[in-house]
Amino acid sequence: AMASRLSDFDGNGRTADGHLVPLLANVGGAKDAVAAAAAGAQGVGLLRTEFCFLGRDTEPSIEEQVEAYRGVFDAFGGKKVVIRTLDAGADKPLPFLTDATEPNPALGVRGYRTDWTTPGVLDRQLAAIASATEGSAADVWVMAPMIATVDEAEHFASMCASAGLKTPGVMVEIPAAALRSELIFEHVEFASIGTNDLTQYTMAADRQLGPLAALNSPWQPAVLQLIGLTVAGAVAEGHDKPVGVCGEAAADPALAVVLTGLGVSTLSMTSRALAAVAAVLASVTLDQAKDLAQLALAAPTAAAAKESVRSRLPVLA
Ligand code: PEP
Ligand code: MG
Repeated sequence: AMASRLSDFDGNGRTADGHLVPLLANVGGAKDAVAAAAAGAQGVGLLRTEFCFLGRDTEPSIEEQVEAYRGVFDAFGGKKVVIRTLDAGADKPLPFLTDATEPNPALGVRGYRTDWTTPGVLDRQLAAIASATEGSAADVWVMAPMIATVDEAEHFASMCASAGLKTPGVMVEIPAAALRSELIFEHVEFASIGTNDLTQYTMAADRQLGPLAALNSPWQPAVLQLIGLTVAGAVAEGHDKPVGVCGEAAADPALAVVLTGLGVSTLSMTSRALAAVAAVLASVTLDQAKDLAQLALAAPTAAAAKESVRSRLPVLA
C-alpha cells in the first residue's frame, strides 16, 4: 500500500479530508535546498545557518553570509524559507562563538545566548539575512534558537525590526518557552518547535547519549503535552499564530499525524522523509488525527503512545 501511495506524492501534505499541512525541508545550505526543492518540499522550515560555517575560527563576513543564504532562497523561488540564526553549541561548534571548555554544553552558552557573550555577531547576521532577502522572491521568516523567556523573544523581535526583517519567530525547544508561549506570541509572529532539544530538556536526557535513547523519544507524553501547550498559546485570545515542528519528530509518519492532531500547522523534515509523511497524513481525516493525538497524550508511556497510534494507522501495517 505504501509504495503505490508514495508515487502519488505531489509535494503537499494533506489529510484525507483535505486539511493542508505544508511539508517543508530542513536544510544546511544551498546544496540541500536544491535537493529538497526537487523532492517536492513546499519551502524550507529550518535553515540551520551554523551548518554553513561549521568549524570556522572566524566569523563569516556579511558578504559570505549573504551568498550562503541567497543560495537557499534562490532554490525556493517565491516560497517560504525559515532561516534560523546561528545555533552553535556542543554538537555544532563554531570556535568564534562557543567555549569548548564548558562543563555542561547542552545547558551552556549556545544558540541565542551567544549574543550575551559575543555581542555583534547576531546583529551582523540579521543584517546579512536582510541583505540576502532584498531582491529575492522568497518569503523569508527568521527565528532564534534556544529562546527560554518572554524577554528574550521580545528582544530578538526588536533586533529583527531594527534590521528591517518583518517576520520574527522563535524556536520552542526549552520547556519554559512552551509553558509561556501565550506571552511569547505577543512579540513574535510564529514559532517552530524543535522536538530534539525540547525532548532533551523535558526529560533531562542528553540527546547525544545512546543509553538514554528511550527517554529521549518525542513520543514521551510529557513532550506531546508541551507541544499542545505551545499551540494553545499560539491561538489564545487575541492572536492566531502558526506553529510548526522542525525536529526529527516531524519525520516520523505516525508522529506527524499526532502533531497535526495537536494543531501544528507545518512539518519540516529531512527531504528523504517527505513522501512517507505525506502518505500517512493522507490516510486519516483531521478528526481522526485529533483523536489519535488525544490517545497519545493519555498514554502512560512513550512506548504505549507510539504503539496505540501506530496500531490504528492501517497504512503502516
Ligand atoms: C531541534 O532541537 O529539534 C532542532 C530542530 O534543532 P537542532 O536539532 O538543530 O538542535
Ligand atoms: Mg535545537
